[in-house]
Amino acid sequence: MTTIAIIGAGITGLACAGKLAAAGHHAVLFDKGRGIGGRVATRRAAGLQFDHGAQYASTQGDEFAKVLGKLAATGAVAPWIDGGGQTRCVGVPGMSAMAKAMAQGLDVRQNTLVSGLSHNTTGWHLQIAGVVHAAAHVIVTVPAPQLAALLGADHPMIARVAHVRYAPSLTLMAAINGPAPFISHHDPGADLAWIAQDSSKPGRPQQEGTAWVAQASAGFSVDHLEQDNDTIAALMLPLLCDRLGLTRDHVTHAAAHRWRYAHVTQALGQSFLRAGDASLYLGGDWCLGPGIANAWASGVAIADDLLAHLA
Ligand SMILES: Cc1cc2nc3c(=O)[nH]c(=O)nc-3n(C[C@H](O)[C@H](O)[C@H](O)COP(=O)(O)OP(=O)(O)OC[C@H]3O[C@@H](n4cnc5c(N)ncnc54)[C@H](O)[C@@H]3O)c2cc1C
Repeated sequence: MTTIAIIGAGITGLACAGKLAAAGHHAVLFDKGRGIGGRVATRRAAGLQFDHGAQYASTQGDEFAKVLGKLAATGAVAPWIDGGGQTRCVGVPGMSAMAKAMAQGLDVRQNTLVSGLSHNTTGWHLQIAGVVHAAAHVIVTVPAPQLAALLGADHPMIARVAHVRYAPSLTLMAAINGPAPFISHHDPGADLAWIAQDSSKPGRPQQEGTAWVAQASAGFSVDHLEQDNDTIAALMLPLLCDRLGLTRDHVTHAAAHRWRYAHVTQALGQSFLRAGDASLYLGGDWCLGPGIANAWASGVAIADDLLAHLA
């Protein structure tokens, strides 16, 4: 029997499993995604590469700064000076490298959707491709709005996350043959709230032209959330070309991605939720607030709490 199961191998799940492993406890991480890292992601297409999720990690708190310092020593992350002159921490050769480095030595099962979760006197039961996996402790790290699909809308812990809110993000990935007028540009009031020259980040593969990632504002993303990816790309590309001062002829590749749950806009206000018997924990960035550092803090807090119960 799997003693500890973690649903989600994003930063929360990885931080939690890493802390448990350091204390001698084996956890199995199940993730429906092809890659490791959830929203810390790098997309490869037609010989190109784009960080289409999180752009960089911020060193928030001494403990997380130490983690990033250790990852920097292995070369998995490095500093990047953005267009505003701020030094940021990015994965090398892509943001996903940060998550992959955190997953070193952990038992991660990718392409593994957990479709249901139930509990009886023998423990927790995870439904995975028609097979039931048993676990004594389950840690669920999916975005809060996706919890009801796993636990059931009437589970008592669902009401406790009802006030948590996310904003979506529509993201454009484009390759451009032409001059690159800036490194990054942040304007929360514009339809394209963030634009970054992805290929200016350290250790990126050499590719023809420059790779750009543009994220739509929350308002634009809500307005066009249900459009298909081709339509989203067609809407965002002219905005990017305008901002770069280039014509459509310079574009050699364009694709869009829809993040339905991108940025936490209203958090739970505590590091995690726990069932009374410590057999079920719920955590994620939605607990403390948006971003990688908050996700990491939630995962570590869950591990600390579970370790105290296991002692
Ligand atoms: C476009 C964008 C830009 C961002 N920019 C930044 C930034 O610059 N800096 C920053 O710090 N943060 C940024 N963020 C936010 C940051 O990425 C997140 O806060 C953080 O990665 C959340 O980690 P998490 O582990 O809590 O959740 P996630 O990364 O969402 O991980 C949850 C995991 O659960 C898996 N999962 C879900 N349901 C199931 C299921 N039923 N079965 C199995 N697996 C399941 C998912 O596949 C996913 O891997 C950005 C996010 C987006 C989308």
